[in-house]
Amino acid sequence: MRKVFIAGNWKMHKNRVEAASLAGELISAFSGEKKKIMIAPPFTALATVAEVLKGSKILLGAQNMGPEEKGAHTGEISPQMLTELGVSVVILGHSERRHVYGEGDELINRKVLLALKHNLEIILCVGETLDEREKDIAAQVVENQVVEGLKGVSEKAMKQVTIAYEPVWAIGTGRTATAGDADTIHTLIRGLLIRLYSKKAGEEAVIQYGGSVKPDNTAELMNMENIDGLLVGGASLTADTFIKIVKYE
Ligand code: PEP
Repeated sequence: MRKVFIAGNWKMHKNRVEAASLAGELISAFSGEKKKIMIAPPFTALATVAEVLKGSKILLGAQNMGPEEKGAHTGEISPQMLTELGVSVVILGHSERRHVYGEGDELINRKVLLALKHNLEIILCVGETLDEREKDIAAQVVENQVVEGLKGVSEKAMKQVTIAYEPVWAIGTGRTATAGDADTIHTLIRGLLIRLYSKKAGEEAVIQYGGSVKPDNTAELMNMENIDGLLVGGASLTADTFIKIVKYE
């Protein structure tokens, strides 16, 4: 049985006081919750939120990580810097990193391998642009991003990997993929993982959907066979909406 995994990506929002306050509200709301939950504040609020989350089951995530352990890498953050703060999950290959900051599959793969080496769980984001969808190559693009992103990742390490399918045209735009369209790509990703690893690894892999997830489309998405969780951006920024999403029926 795959455990439902719902993650909130706060992007470049919230100062330390706001972040601590939101984390505090979530702790009380999710005290009896069985689902796996993660929040990823900006780097500047990680230490503060780590303190607030102590003793709770909510996981602390980071939104990105550099591809090196240390050295002359101005502006980068190493895996050790994250784990030292209590971060246990890192989001890699988010579409804003790929398309706004030019991160390619080779760089993302280096980050994936380094994060896994340091026992971080990863959420590897993949997804096609609108242009790629209109050209009918969404499946190829996503398959390629999964294959390249996971190069060198062992079957054992796959237990630390969540894949997030996030069609770029649905992120922050208010447009959601239909549950059926999303599930088609999720099914394809699971099939690919079965081919790359094994039936067991593919069937156990958690695949999240992301892209304008809101309380009112959560249940429909989560009812699909191959959608095991959600990566939520805008709607994770207020306690009310994120709590409704996590507690969907
Ligand atoms: C995201 O940041 O990964 C995301 C899916 O954003 P939104 O939910 O705002 O579309």
